[in-house]
Amino acid sequence: MESRKLVMELRWDPILGEWVMVSNIRSFRPWQPTTFCPFCPGTEETGYGWEALIVENKYPMLIEEPPEPTKHRFYKTQKAYGKCYVVIETPLHDIDDLSDLSEKQIAYVINLIIEKQKEIMNKEFAEYFLWFRNKGREIGVSLTHPHSQIYVLPFTPIKILREIENAKNYWKENNSCIFCKIIEIEKEDGIRLLLENRDWIAFMPFYAHWPFEIHIYPKRHLQLLTELTQSEVDLLAQILKYSLCGLKRMFSKPMPYVMVLHQAPLKASHPYYHLHIEIYGFLRDEGKLKYAAGMETGGGNFTYDAVPEENASKLRAKINECVNGVK
Ligand SMILES: [Zn+2]
Ligand SMILES: [Zn+2]
Ligand SMILES: [Zn+2]
Repeated sequence: MESRKLVMELRWDPILGEWVMVSNIRSFRPWQPTTFCPFCPGTEETGYGWEALIVENKYPMLIEEPPEPTKHRFYKTQKAYGKCYVVIETPLHDIDDLSDLSEKQIAYVINLIIEKQKEIMNKEFAEYFLWFRNKGREIGVSLTHPHSQIYVLPFTPIKILREIENAKNYWKENNSCIFCKIIEIEKEDGIRLLLENRDWIAFMPFYAHWPFEIHIYPKRHLQLLTELTQSEVDLLAQILKYSLCGLKRMFSKPMPYVMVLHQAPLKASHPYYHLHIEIYGFLRDEGKLKYAAGMETGGGNFTYDAVPEENASKLRAKINECVNGVK
């Protein structure tokens, strides 16, 4: 058998103008039985005596000392500098979702993530800090122990670049923040509003892409996770808990979703940007998963087979059940 080479590199798509992360590290790691949970207390990595934990991802797309990338006469590559972490959100294996943890525990997890960002943000390669959470076997999540992930990237993700571009343009024309404007509009309209507390607002966007999409904005104009005050962290934990709880109750089975934190890039200043969280709930109806198919994956634009205001009203009712402690 010929010996295979570890490849971990960024490849530039010159047509779309974006990076693709390439890594075959998975095929170099030993096989583990599917019954083994690497995130439970007492494994080699986790040990005992913790409430939540951030560990290095065993299958990283990015590492601090990446191998030399492929040299090509035409195509552009770059070293896969970065870090990939797993955030183990509780030692309890059988908890279903973040929303099943206490507000205090969620705040503890957010504080851990903030500490990690502070620790890594001054590293030369650290251009962007992406915290995201994938939930549900339907979207390929095999490890059910509650966890999320962090990618410390050597570039700013394409979606953030687009947001920055549009926020910048709006700022130039109006001398104000488009995200702050959206908070004002959503409060006026009210029909897409899902939940609000002193520091945060959750709503379904007018232009939602996914069936049950939730955007959570801080009311204060800020750019980075590390700028949050402790009371803003506590109230973020609260609004996350109830938003995700409502999402989970929408249908008979828990909603598969992706949650992602959008913040400014770590380097340079981006005063026109406004941190927020986006949650994409993928079920459009009982047992019916919305796929990014021909139009979405092939064309890049979304179809929405309902009306966001109607879905917002259904989701708001479920969120209210959670807030009011309805079993
Ligand atoms: Zn476990
Ligand atoms: Zn703003
Ligand atoms: Zn965003």
